[in-house]
Amino acid sequence: MFPAYTEEEVLSVHHWTDRLFTLRTTRPAGYRFANGQFCMMGLPVDGKPLVRAYSFASANHEETLEFFSIKVPDGPLTSRLQHVKVGDKVLVGKRPTGTLTIGNLRPGRTLWLLATGTGLAPFLSVVKDPETYERFEQVILTHTCRHTEDLAYSEFLKSELPADELLGELVAPKLVYYPSVTREPFEHEGRITTLIETGRIFKDLGREPLDPKHDRLMLCGSSQMLADTADLLEAQGFEEGNSGEQGDYLVEKAFAGEKRPAKPRPDTAVV
Ligand SMILES: Cc1cc2nc3c(=O)[nH]c(=O)nc-3n(C[C@H](O)[C@H](O)[C@H](O)COP(=O)(O)OP(=O)(O)OC[C@H]3O[C@@H](n4cnc5c(N)ncnc54)[C@H](O)[C@@H]3O)c2cc1C
Repeated sequence: MFPAYTEEEVLSVHHWTDRLFTLRTTRPAGYRFANGQFCMMGLPVDGKPLVRAYSFASANHEETLEFFSIKVPDGPLTSRLQHVKVGDKVLVGKRPTGTLTIGNLRPGRTLWLLATGTGLAPFLSVVKDPETYERFEQVILTHTCRHTEDLAYSEFLKSELPADELLGELVAPKLVYYPSVTREPFEHEGRITTLIETGRIFKDLGREPLDPKHDRLMLCGSSQMLADTADLLEAQGFEEGNSGEQGDYLVEKAFAGEKRPAKPRPDTAVV
């Protein structure tokens, strides 16, 4: 119908809360992507594709595609998408893209995946990727939300994935899941930047503070979370990577919004 998209059938819909849901769809034949990447996804509206960027929550070895979505009450797409039912069709872009992939990180010992809100989505594919555990001795996934009910996939991450018939053996000894909330009492409370700055997360996990020699990070969240965390990392000597050059950390926005303040280039005089 639209040359840049295939129509995929909705196989399941799970509503976590009135703000969050998960969609599973068929996967186009021969569809290739790297874990951590995203595609355009949406619905035909008034004869045109109404699509938005969506990270793959499914790993690239899975037979179906999974998307973890926000419901923005007046959002052009999600005010509609949240009502899709099993058997409905969605549009999936033919060209996945994105730089939040382990191949863009320098070799290291520990991989930290820092997510807020739906920024968890790309890391769901990364933690299901066997290569992640071949490249890193330990994988620490943090998910920060306002309320405990927003901690979608927590049972999956805590219990199901480590017990998975195929992946469990790789995942169980290496994956650490660290959820935190900012607006109600919980076992871990506070923004991820605060937990890092105060050293609380390292104390909780019995680890040394971050070290650019062997820690590698991927960040996915709001512009503010990304800017604050990147500042904190840069101050400690971590270097950002991209598709052209491997780095110590990588950044992906969980949604488009206010732009991340640009980093001054090292060759640019600041006046
Ligand atoms: C690289 C990339 C990957 C993305 N991956 C996902 C994903 O996996 N899941 C997902 O739900 N969204 C994701 N998004 C956001 C997504 O593209 C849409 O913004 C979202 O689906 C809402 O669409 P909309 O048309 O309803 O509202 P929009 O007009 O797109 O957004 C309206 C407003 O809602 C807020 N908003 C939008 N998305 C979010 C969100 N995810 N969390 C909190 N607030 C938000 C923002 O303030 C935005 O200005 C991604 C965005 C980018 C740039």
